[in-house]
Amino acid sequence: MPIYEYCCPNCSAKFELLRPVSRADEEVLCPQCHIPAKRALSSFAAFSKSSSGMSTPISGAASACGTCSASTCNTCGS
Ligand SMILES: [Zn+2]
Repeated sequence: MPIYEYCCPNCSAKFELLRPVSRADEEVLCPQCHIPAKRALSSFAAFSKSSSGMSTPISGAASACGTCSASTCNTCGS
């Protein structure tokens, strides 16, 4: 089960939630403001760590595969 990161538009609090892929886009309330928070791209899906420790964005990584974090996915068949 992947961890999703959410960001509150009101207080900018970031929090993570472990939930099934099928529920990734469901609304999550900010624990502080109790208003709907927006889902942020989880760091493992949108970035890859190079050997130097720098994070580099992978274009299209967010929508390439809903099952795994690979930008080009041959394993999940999507
Ligand atoms: Zn908040």
